[in-house]
Amino acid sequence: MAAANDTSFNELFRAHPIPMWVYDLDTLAFLAVNTAAIVHYGYSEDEFLALTILDLRPSAELPRLRANLKTAPRTGLERSGIWCHRKRDGSLIDVEVSSHPLLFQGRACKFVLAHDVTARLQGELKIARLNRVYALLSGINSAIVRIRDRTALFKEACRLATSEGGFATACISTVDAAATGLNEVAHAGRALPPRPAELEQHWCALRAARGQSTVVCNDIGQDPTLAPLRAPLQARGFAAVAAFPLLVGAHAVAVLTLLSDCAGVFDEDELRVLHELAGDLAFALLFLDREEQLSYLAYHDVMTALPNRRLFQDRLTQLLHPASGVVALVLVDLGRFSQLNDALGRHAGDAVLAQVARRLSRQLPDSFNVARIGGDLFALTLPDLARGEDAARLLNETVFGLLDQPYLLGAKEVRVASRAGLALYPGDGADAETLFKHAEAALKNAKASGERYLFYAPRMNAALAARLAMEHQLQEALEQKQFVMMYQPRVDLASGRIVSAEALIRWNHPERGLVGPADFIELAEETGLIRPIGAWVIGAVCAQQRAWLAAGVDIVPAAINLSAVQCAQAELLDIIGAAMAAHRVERGLIEFELTETAVMSNPDEAARHLNALKRLGIPLSLDDFGTGYSSLAQLKRFPFDFVKIDRSFVSGVDSNAEDTAIAGAIIAMTHSLGLRAVAEGVETLAQLEVLRRLRCDELQGYYFSRPLTPDQFAALLREGRRL
Ligand code: C2E
Ligand code: MG
Ligand code: MG
Repeated sequence: MAAANDTSFNELFRAHPIPMWVYDLDTLAFLAVNTAAIVHYGYSEDEFLALTILDLRPSAELPRLRANLKTAPRTGLERSGIWCHRKRDGSLIDVEVSSHPLLFQGRACKFVLAHDVTARLQGELKIARLNRVYALLSGINSAIVRIRDRTALFKEACRLATSEGGFATACISTVDAAATGLNEVAHAGRALPPRPAELEQHWCALRAARGQSTVVCNDIGQDPTLAPLRAPLQARGFAAVAAFPLLVGAHAVAVLTLLSDCAGVFDEDELRVLHELAGDLAFALLFLDREEQLSYLAYHDVMTALPNRRLFQDRLTQLLHPASGVVALVLVDLGRFSQLNDALGRHAGDAVLAQVARRLSRQLPDSFNVARIGGDLFALTLPDLARGEDAARLLNETVFGLLDQPYLLGAKEVRVASRAGLALYPGDGADAETLFKHAEAALKNAKASGERYLFYAPRMNAALAARLAMEHQLQEALEQKQFVMMYQPRVDLASGRIVSAEALIRWNHPERGLVGPADFIELAEETGLIRPIGAWVIGAVCAQQRAWLAAGVDIVPAAINLSAVQCAQAELLDIIGAAMAAHRVERGLIEFELTETAVMSNPDEAARHLNALKRLGIPLSLDDFGTGYSSLAQLKRFPFDFVKIDRSFVSGVDSNAEDTAIAGAIIAMTHSLGLRAVAEGVETLAQLEVLRRLRCDELQGYYFSRPLTPDQFAALLREGRRL
């Protein structure tokens, strides 16, 4: 500008394509401006020359600029760098400014070149944003590969959208099938303002779910559809929002919502990438669904929905540890299933299989672990068994009980004769595989031999066979009246007189002779046969008393033993009442003995029975005291008259100080409760004398008499024998 008057330089200045001007550093007024500047900023030359450089700056910056000017007026405003300028129409542009101090028309001026870089900068910005979105896309794709859980994937996607994608907020909500509402499952970034339910339908996410297409709002301040939600969104700094439905099949299963602080971020290029991202997420969901389905198929039988062999074997393995006790693996085969298929068709067979599965899975507790492991082969476990025999009972009563019911095929009823093979943990194998092999062998033997079920271990089968035979014989014994009663006298220590007799059952076995109760009462209790046997005893004792009375014997009360099973029997009182009435036996001629276990196994029912018997004036004894775990104080609620001290303490009462102490304590406590103490199993004079010293009231035992036949006992009574 040294040759300002030089026409050619002047023209060069005017014609230069880059906007240029000269302004006065003191007044900030323009002194010269070229054509490019006039055109670019939209003023006429006169208008431009009437301005100061402050007029080119955005109005928002002016206060700050004026402040700067005061402190450093001479440094000039147009330092080299990028500045924001305002055109005549108010639009803002980014300008890269180069300036130079200059003496112009004798004044201190600045010569300025102002290169508009708005487009370049926006391009760069856009590339930077796109790069972020691409980084987000790749982050999400790697999450899709890594993450197998839907919610975890959603959370990671939101996290990436804010950290990598630069969005202010990202959230994913699931949508129900009817798209009635949103359920936010993942969120990252700033919190969204709460949305009242009545405004929910305005929210982009719900609109995207319902319309199954992306909803974009590039300027929250302008978009009319968002008007009701505008203020709270803007208050939190949000400027733009877009919602992308995640479509699986024909449904939007979830919506990804992204919010930005910059209006207009969702341009065509960015939306293209974000669509791709939403598509990838949706595909991942579909994939996760399929995978869940696949893993279901890998572990379940499709037809019955029962666990398959693989899952069953896993569960069985988990069951097998030393603390589980005996675990039985049972393989059940539906007998003659192929004939059923042949005769009625495959669909009939399938229907039966489905019904079998339903019965087993719905009516057995979960602990049975039912599975279908082959065509007509089912597997189950019988856990927490005390012994192998329990498995047989559970199988018979529960499993076969269910499977033996007829199956309905249309109007037809069919029956299926199932068979089973059992292997027991730990005896027959320590691992699932061995147990399977052995249960299969047992099943094969059962099918070959025609047995309903067989254990793998032959000794189990032998023991079971013996038990079964015994059960059968007991039943027969009852029918053929092979039971007899014996009577053992109980004597009063003070007077020496017989005060009562305990009625003790014997089984007059056709081959084995007289069998004691120790050999069959337990089995009778387990099989429930104790109920008819017990009822028979009550009748037999009443009949005996009546017979002795008729024969003129000066009888004493007879004590009948009641087992726990009888105690729990609702009809017990009726049975007793009926027997006493039938034989015209008065109260006071019959007593009952119950062990602590019998009472405590069903305390409420026992208390009900005992109180009712007590009201009838029937004396009651607590039998075998000292062998259980209850204290006398606990047993106080039951109306006993006698406590029978178990033989195990009596046998050592004269030789073992501990037994003496225990017997003494029991007697003292018995007395403190106002009851009488009876010593059982007294065999020697020495025992008797210690018991007398301990103030025992009565005794029973071989020392005075063994259990006697009715005739022998009557003779004893007639004799008037005393201690
Ligand atoms: P319990 O009620 O404690 O009967 C006493 C048992 O001790 C009887 O055995 C009796 O024979 C035996 N005993 C008596 N004095 C002596 C003795 O001095 N030394 C020895 N070593 N034993 C003696 P039993 O008759 O074998 O009966 C055993 C158990 O069977 C009874 O124990 C009772 O719990 C049960 N029982 C007997 N009869 C019946 C019955 O009709 N119904 C029920 N439910 N259980 C019965
Ligand atoms: Mg007894
Ligand atoms: Mg006893």
